[in-house]
Amino acid sequence: MAKKKVKIIKIDLDKCHGCRACEVACAAFHSKPKYGIVNPARSRIRVYRNELQNVFVPVQGSFYTKAECPGRHMYRVNGNDQSTYDEDMSVCSFCGAACPSRDLFKEPDSGLPLKCDMCESDPPLDKPMCVKWCLADALIYEEREEEGEDQPKLDEVDTALECLVDKYGIEKVIDGLARMTQKE
Ligand code: SF4
Ligand code: SF4
Repeated sequence: MAKKKVKIIKIDLDKCHGCRACEVACAAFHSKPKYGIVNPARSRIRVYRNELQNVFVPVQGSFYTKAECPGRHMYRVNGNDQSTYDEDMSVCSFCGAACPSRDLFKEPDSGLPLKCDMCESDPPLDKPMCVKWCLADALIYEEREEEGEDQPKLDEVDTALECLVDKYGIEKVIDGLARMTQKE
């Protein structure tokens, strides 16, 4: 059976103190030019903070969806209890989706989705930038092998196109691409 490499970032909530260095590192690494602009609104990791309750939850941008989650006010705890959270700490606080409910994980100018890409780069990094700059060691990087084939990933361009098609319709997107091609 073929093996695939799986990369994950584990989070130790007890160690996160909400400094947001992870947001800054991610935004700087993904800026164009690289390290040229630091705008945490463009980060693919965002730290939910509730200082009164002393809660800090780093969340990675995960996927794009055009639909709101119907169960977003409910959270299943340990597979049993369902709890509701008030607006200040809704289940959305733990979610990495770019969805219509909020502005998180969207590029502030274009509204296009921002998804964690594990800092894939050439040459590869030893560890992702957010992990490197989390001096509290709240983010722990792990690589492991699992059985199974590598699935072709939807890359950023595919996700951006999907988002544009949802927003403007396929015909407008095709027209726009055709115009851009003619200009070249
Ligand atoms: S850098 Fe580490 S401690 Fe600081 S907010 Fe991010 S995860 Fe938390
Ligand atoms: S792994 Fe890289 S892309 Fe993902 S949140 Fe961390 S710094 Fe951002």
